[in-house]
Amino acid sequence: MIRRLDPGTRSKIAAGEVVARPASVAVELVENALDAGAETVEIEVDGDGTDRIRVADDGRGMAESDAALAVERYTTSKLSAADDLETVETLGFRGEALPSIAAAAARLELTTNDGGPRGTRVVVDGGGDATDGEHDKTVSPAGRARGTTVEVTGLFSDRPARKKSLASPKAEFARVSAVVTRYALTRPDVRFVLRHDGRETLATPGTDRFADALLAVYGRDAASHASTFDSSREVSAAGETAAVEVDGALCHPEVTRSRRDHVHVSVNGRALAEPRLRRAVADGYGTLLPDGREPVGVVRLRLPPAWVDHNVHPAKDEVGFRDADAVAEAVESSVRDALSTADLRRSGEVAM
Ligand code: ADP
Ligand code: MG
Repeated sequence: MIRRLDPGTRSKIAAGEVVARPASVAVELVENALDAGAETVEIEVDGDGTDRIRVADDGRGMAESDAALAVERYTTSKLSAADDLETVETLGFRGEALPSIAAAAARLELTTNDGGPRGTRVVVDGGGDATDGEHDKTVSPAGRARGTTVEVTGLFSDRPARKKSLASPKAEFARVSAVVTRYALTRPDVRFVLRHDGRETLATPGTDRFADALLAVYGRDAASHASTFDSSREVSAAGETAAVEVDGALCHPEVTRSRRDHVHVSVNGRALAEPRLRRAVADGYGTLLPDGREPVGVVRLRLPPAWVDHNVHPAKDEVGFRDADAVAEAVESSVRDALSTADLRRSGEVAM
């Protein structure tokens, strides 16, 4: 059930503009789909993403009353009281994404079905701010199978300065693609499809095998020179200890790139462009990598929610840790151990 957060909880949540560019819309809509338990997430982008961006999932959907509330500010089904912030396990929790996106776009259309005989369509037209009042919206019945589709058109159409600050369509789409790729590799159990101007640019099979997701993203050479790993480390801070589970798939050192963007890190299911953790992974490879080359891999961290603060950055790019150095060290040593036990010479075979 979707509720409105009380002012006390609101004030504890990092406020800020969540919609900086089309890729921010992609992050929020993909995270909503994953929070809804989707097995398939399809993302379509036209042009630079301001023309149209659409995310469809087969998750649990919403009942009519929830669908109407979802586009309002501070309404969420994922958080109820301030202390829940410490234990939140979902990717979303602020209840701000859909209303912020609606306010930044000419039109937001949400079509959803929670498994009942008919679905619901909610359309927010004209954007504008609805800081305390409610959005102008229309709610009507709609045919749709179980799941949710959100289509955003005319993003930033009444914010010329924001629109001007965007890069080329190619560069903006590349950012969307990076977001989708990050999640596709972090969640190999989910099928992701990405289309740009009608052309499919990425499709993972959702088999729950890292090798299959790596194959879809990086091709046969990378996928066949990779090993999966799964390890656990204890970290302590201020007299308390916690287990950090680290798993994923690491390409062998002959598979490299010139930039570090191909190290895909996630923390408790949230895929992040986290420079510190990416560096920790690269440090784990150490001297195995040729000079100036960066590794390719997927590294997922799980640690107790209370050890992680996802609330430090409105765009959720970075997280806070109780002890960031200890976590980085756990990542580095997990990667080092995984590579030392992987049979790196057995090239050409899939070791997973
Ligand atoms: P948050 O994710 O922080 O709760 P959002 O504005 O992103 O806030 O979404 C508001 C609410 O709408 C969510 O809490 C959820 O209940 C519902 N919702 C949004 N997207 C979906 C989806 N794809 N499938 C099912 N429910 C959704
Ligand atoms: Mg959300």
